[in-house]
Amino acid sequence: YKRIVLASRPEGDIEPNTFRTELHPLSGLSVGDGEILVQVTWLSLDPAMRGYLRDARSYLPPVKIGETMRSQGLGVVIKAGNGSSVPVGQIVAGPFGEPILLRVTLLKLAGWTEYAVMKEKQVDKISVPKGAQDIDFLNTLGMPGLTAYFGIKEICDIKPGDKMIVSGAAGAVGSVACQLGKRAGAKVYAIAGSKEKCEWLERELGVDRAFNYKSTSFRKDLKEVGYIDVYFDNVGGDILDLILTRLNIGARIALCGAISQYNAAKPKGLQNYLTLIAMRAKIQGFIIFDYTAKFPAAIEEMAGALADGSLKSKFHVVEGIEQAPVALPWLFSGKNNGKLLVKVQTE
Ligand code: NDP
Repeated sequence: YKRIVLASRPEGDIEPNTFRTELHPLSGLSVGDGEILVQVTWLSLDPAMRGYLRDARSYLPPVKIGETMRSQGLGVVIKAGNGSSVPVGQIVAGPFGEPILLRVTLLKLAGWTEYAVMKEKQVDKISVPKGAQDIDFLNTLGMPGLTAYFGIKEICDIKPGDKMIVSGAAGAVGSVACQLGKRAGAKVYAIAGSKEKCEWLERELGVDRAFNYKSTSFRKDLKEVGYIDVYFDNVGGDILDLILTRLNIGARIALCGAISQYNAAKPKGLQNYLTLIAMRAKIQGFIIFDYTAKFPAAIEEMAGALADGSLKSKFHVVEGIEQAPVALPWLFSGKNNGKLLVKVQTE
């Protein structure tokens, strides 16, 4: 079976030699007591994975050279060891609602591999709610959707009528943040990198207006929004610096991500941060893993909205595990159009 390991640490963009594919005999995977053999069906490609390649202190340790690339995924149990209560055929995923240490271990063990032996307690057994599909657990009902949910509910402090801007708006996190912002009664303005993405945001997701940051009139166009109360930031860099000049008094900025800076050896400094003082504004980073105890209720709420069609999502699927290193850089060029997933094999 195929397993993809980290071969070298990229200094800038992810390169073809960043990862290496290895072939291992399936017979080498023995399933001990309380363990399960999982056939990986889907892998999630996430911007955070660029951070795992960096040898620096963060909320998770870096992936080591020669180690299987860490990622979230879904799989099916094909063999269960003694004492395991997971039935063969059960769908499993990265643990939700479990302590962070278990999550870390799971992510290390699973990752970019077609098969993995895991401890039963390291995985989450999924029962797919009515109206949803298993891959929603890698999108709206998984890390991206929950990130938007808790960013909006716990950090943004939205009041009806607030003006909110979301960057990276057509992506997995951003698209949910836009929709939840509308639900909370905000006027939502979206920023994305193509005309097609902006049209989708306006027509399908119902944002009040979407702006293409690659258009030459972007800075001028954005001024039409006036001053804003909330900024949900997925991209950092120049766009964050620009929004800092557009804050109302008491504005809140949720620092969710800074994808424009992930490939940079040294992130760009902000020129306009003094407006935070003048506008008595708040800027706050957050990490989704801090909210695991509240995941079940959030998943239930969003599953209901997915089922009744009021919460929309989009997937961008590539096929075959060997496509994982090819497609991961798309997150940084904007080539992905929706939540980026690798279909490893058909169940
Ligand atoms: P997306 O599905 O949004 O994919 C990434 C998108 O980012 C691309 O499609 C591209 O869209 C945009 N992008 C890439 N480079 C730039 C750039 N230089 N400037 C502006 N936009 C850019 O990914 P996710 O939804 O999974 O992640 C979005 C953000 O959320 C990331 O920053 C990620 O790190 C963060 N995150 C944070 C978490 C937390 O706990 N705090 C948890 C999960 C994610 P376009 O075509 O519009 O440029």
